[in-house]
Amino acid sequence: MPEFLPAELVALRERAERVARDELVPLRDDPDLDPHERSRRVRAAVEAAGIRRLTLDPGLAGRADQPALTLLVAREALARHGVAHLPGVFASSPGLLAGVGEPLRSTHLEPLLAGEKRAGFAFTEPVGARPSRARIDGDDRVVDGQKSYVTGGADADFLTATVEVEGQGPAMVVIDVDRPGVSITRRFASFDGARHAAFAFEEVRVPRHCVLGAPGEGRGKALERISEVRRMIAADCVGTAAWLLELLETHLATERRDGRRPGDEQRARLRFGDLRVQAYAARSMAYRTARLTDAGENVVNECIAAKLFAREVANAVADAAIQLVGGEALVEGHPLERTYRRLRTLRLAEGESDVLRVNVARGRLDLGQGRI
Ligand SMILES: Cc1cc2nc3c(=O)[nH]c(=O)nc-3n(C[C@H](O)[C@H](O)[C@H](O)COP(=O)(O)OP(=O)(O)OC[C@H]3O[C@@H](n4cnc5c(N)ncnc54)[C@H](O)[C@@H]3O)c2cc1C
Repeated sequence: MPEFLPAELVALRERAERVARDELVPLRDDPDLDPHERSRRVRAAVEAAGIRRLTLDPGLAGRADQPALTLLVAREALARHGVAHLPGVFASSPGLLAGVGEPLRSTHLEPLLAGEKRAGFAFTEPVGARPSRARIDGDDRVVDGQKSYVTGGADADFLTATVEVEGQGPAMVVIDVDRPGVSITRRFASFDGARHAAFAFEEVRVPRHCVLGAPGEGRGKALERISEVRRMIAADCVGTAAWLLELLETHLATERRDGRRPGDEQRARLRFGDLRVQAYAARSMAYRTARLTDAGENVVNECIAAKLFAREVANAVADAAIQLVGGEALVEGHPLERTYRRLRTLRLAEGESDVLRVNVARGRLDLGQGRI
């Protein structure tokens, strides 16, 4: 639960709230600011507040991150002001490269953490396509296949991609995008403004040292990274839901010309009360999941549940808030309009909702995993 945190996490939360309110919100809301300059100033502000590097492991080895609870507290506090997603708020985390040895450490991990190289996560494949695969040829893995939706892919220097290695099972491989045989087949943007690319691999030769982990470990590695991202999305959604509920509360309490407030209406109270119940449950789930993660438990199913629920709740809050505020909420640039578009994409990113529900059922019925 978010209560009874140790003193250092309470201090972190206050620090994050301060930098969000005093520096990041004005930067977010300045329409004349060049996007590069905005992210430069965002980086400087969060760096000075000691927030930006929380996603980095100082030793570049072993665990990628700070405790899950620390990250949740920081991210949620920023999201409560609608700024957790701004580019530059958190440094690139090592992700799947956490703990890699040489030569990948020097050629990919260190440049990634220094901001000199950019990475894309290539998991999703076109409907009906054969899974991307690799055959072994001497010291090389020769990759063929397609990836359909790589966020940041058009600007990436390398991809961490899931492939099926012949005779060994699933693996994560690091593929430099300038290798012969790698091509971008499509560049596109989703309606939240994020940019993506689709890739084709034709006989791409990848040296053995670019395979992450032991053969067959690929799925476990990918799941770890996906669980980390799922907790991140849950934290963002829980904080964002709280932020939108505060905006809605202000609207419901504002007197109209006839002297009545929108919040005097019973139907508005019903909706508002229901959303607060859901937000309470989503926040509790996120904190329980973070504590289980830090205790070293298997949390694959709990991360799915926490993320799935938090993003559905955040979407429900945004949708209902738009309905209660009315047409003004749909005017371009209104916080609800902007946030709704972003939240809507999160219902697909990192797993479509029904696919995740089926995964939770599978976790219980086939693998005996998952808590309630
Ligand atoms: C903003 C955004 C960013 C993304 N970034 C990345 C990224 O960086 N890297 C990456 O790899 N991917 C990324 N994705 C892709 C994302 O992971 C997929 O969109 C998501 O997993 C859903 O896959 P899909 O789009 O192929 O839809 P599908 O999985 O095909 O789902 C479409 C519909 O089909 C249903 N369905 C799916 N499977 C079954 C089944 N077996 N039986 C019955 N019904 C089924 C689903 O329930 C859903 O209703 C991103 C997506 C978005 C929107």
